[in-house]
Amino acid sequence: MSITNQNIVILGAGESGVGAALLAKAKGNVVFVSDKGKIKPSYQTELEENQIEFESETHSVERILKADLIIKSPGIPEKVQLIQDALAKDIPVISEIEYAGKFTNKKMICITGSNGKTTTTMWIHHILKKAGLEVAMAGNVGESLARQVVEDKPGYYVVELSSFQLDGMFDFKADIAILLNITPDHLDRYNYEMQNYVDSKFRITQNLTENDWFIYNADDPILIEEIAKRDIKAQLAPFSLEKVEGMVGYTNNKQININLSAVNNPAETKPEFAMSIHDLSLKGKHNAQNSLASGITSKILQIRNESIKESLSDFKNVEHRLEFVAKVNGIEFINDSKATNVNSAWYALESMDKPTVWIVGGVDKGNDYDTLLELVQDKVTAVICLGKDNEKIKEAFSGKVDVIAEAGTALEAVALGYQLAKKEQTVLLSPACASFDLFESYEDRGAQFKSAVRAL
Ligand code: ADP
Repeated sequence: MSITNQNIVILGAGESGVGAALLAKAKGNVVFVSDKGKIKPSYQTELEENQIEFESETHSVERILKADLIIKSPGIPEKVQLIQDALAKDIPVISEIEYAGKFTNKKMICITGSNGKTTTTMWIHHILKKAGLEVAMAGNVGESLARQVVEDKPGYYVVELSSFQLDGMFDFKADIAILLNITPDHLDRYNYEMQNYVDSKFRITQNLTENDWFIYNADDPILIEEIAKRDIKAQLAPFSLEKVEGMVGYTNNKQININLSAVNNPAETKPEFAMSIHDLSLKGKHNAQNSLASGITSKILQIRNESIKESLSDFKNVEHRLEFVAKVNGIEFINDSKATNVNSAWYALESMDKPTVWIVGGVDKGNDYDTLLELVQDKVTAVICLGKDNEKIKEAFSGKVDVIAEAGTALEAVALGYQLAKKEQTVLLSPACASFDLFESYEDRGAQFKSAVRAL
């Protein structure tokens, strides 16, 4: 495919679409941006300043279907008619990352998984930056990759990849690919077929060569089963909280350990890097996994042990992920608004060390709450449902906890939590659901929760 002098249409004018437009324009193409929703004023200004034609709140279908190439926002499902029509006309439809990947020589460290992507992306970025490497973040965090490669420099990109982004990727190649876990999420976009979602996540391994690395969580049964079926060319670097032999990253005696030589010699378990789990700045089993993935990446890049240790122990948690908000009259409030699926809520509940009042609910994505029952019986004293339709949650937990209450706003949920929790207990917002019924986004939900706590 030629990559200049093309008629390029960009669908969706968020950060990735606008970045793609700037890059396509800089590379000498004719660019047209179309968004069915309202384009943010700041992005409209940016497009105007760069003489890029665009339309807001409409799609000119005829014009769009004349494109040589369509770059589609990850938010637009492939099943919409416009995309189906484009594909029927053999117009390539790709994602912004796929497009941007053609214009950079930086090494790509790519992270996907159902949970932990942002945390791990930011953690790796933090380690590389503190070690003095030229590194930038892209994907779902910060500026789009396309915007950044307009002026490409050598170094590293740490790229967070969602399954929606991966769906539009074909030739893009990672140098280090990380797959953290696969648990049901977004099934509404995958015809409610788990295998479709699994296949999407595994696109991160496509185009890997023997010189590249694939880091993955060997405790995840879906990953193990899937890897056995596939012929992945890269050097495999599994990590585990349960197994030791053959693992490149593992835990034992409250230590995290990294041993790259296990790639060639599975019996070799003497670590090249070790540190106490207590010294990790982020707590919980899930963060031990994230730190192993980050630590393996750092060892592959030959960062000094002292430097890795320091960065694994001073990294600050990302907002809305098990974020401590305040202690009010002995009651601790934790904001985990980013827990938008059952598995992330599982890890939140698992890491609670005090009796917990749990605020849960929102837009259900086909949730199955069975995996949470044991933890809820063990740790949760009251459930507060925070959503428009709470029936499924009430049904799942009735008889398992003493109290199930309902709230229609973050303010109400916090007031109820404060009332139901006793001294030395925790009120945890970890919704296991998307936020769009009562809030604009998970950030909005977390922010409203925090301001309600601070107003107590
Ligand atoms: P993502 O970018 O994949 O959504 P985040 O790092 O934003 O992941 O974390 C989302 C939620 O998942 C948070 O509630 C967080 O505490 C939890 N989480 C973080 N890492 C993991 C992991 N490795 N496994 C399961 N849950 C995790």
